[in-house]
Amino acid sequence: MGGAWLVRRRGWGAACSSARWARRGWVIHRSGGRWLRGRGTGGEGWGVWDAVVDLVVGGGCVGCGKAGVGVCRGCRGELAGARGFWVRERPLGVAPVVAGVVYGDPVRGVVVAHKERGRYGLARVLGGVLAGAVRRVLGERAGVWVVPVPSRAATVRRRGHDPLRRVARAAVRELRRQGVAARVAPALRVTRRVQDQAELSAAARMANLDGAFAVRSRWAETLTDQPIVVVDDVMTTGSTLSEACRALESRGIPVLGCAVVAATRLRLSSGS
Ligand SMILES: [Zn+2]
Repeated sequence: MGGAWLVRRRGWGAACSSARWARRGWVIHRSGGRWLRGRGTGGEGWGVWDAVVDLVVGGGCVGCGKAGVGVCRGCRGELAGARGFWVRERPLGVAPVVAGVVYGDPVRGVVVAHKERGRYGLARVLGGVLAGAVRRVLGERAGVWVVPVPSRAATVRRRGHDPLRRVARAAVRELRRQGVAARVAPALRVTRRVQDQAELSAAARMANLDGAFAVRSRWAETLTDQPIVVVDDVMTTGSTLSEACRALESRGIPVLGCAVVAATRLRLSSGS
């Protein structure tokens, strides 16, 4: 997915018109993550701006590429109807994990557009899926602290936002609508430099993250003896969740379970 123009699903015509916009100082960024900031820069404005660009250059559903803007009704329905599943294979020490959906289309496109292209409005769709997964972890419990796995400050700066925090907040809003007393607890922080996980093997990911997260002191007391669900967007090997659980449990904060928007198919078959 790296490096392609934002309009990669939309054919050459759209790519050319996008390039023309870019020369005028307006557009935009690549899905690979580097922002080429134009006149439209600034916070939440990107969500609106992206939608405007979609309208002008002829966007498509971020999930399936069909003509339209945002997420089409079919993809939205597929994601809204996700029932979640328990992930069978997970690293030692990781609390039980529920994934909303299997990672693939359409969720992949939605995750990437939200995370790398600043399509903030999509947080609601992803938050809905995550809320379903959290709910399944909770069972009959009526309250929960949702703890997102932490992102490196440099990554947040590069992207211009913290996608997981945004999705976690959307999930909490949805849980509250359903009558669950849910709150976000940004209780974890990254303590040292870690490599980008994408290129690493399962074993290398574990080593890369070992001891990399810690609980923020001001949260330690609040979270003791509370129902905690650790959340992430996509689970691949489970090393990130593993490190998050380790960090919390090392401070005497037991984790009820983990919930992710999506888990890769790899997790379902091979357990690597
Ligand atoms: Zn679609």
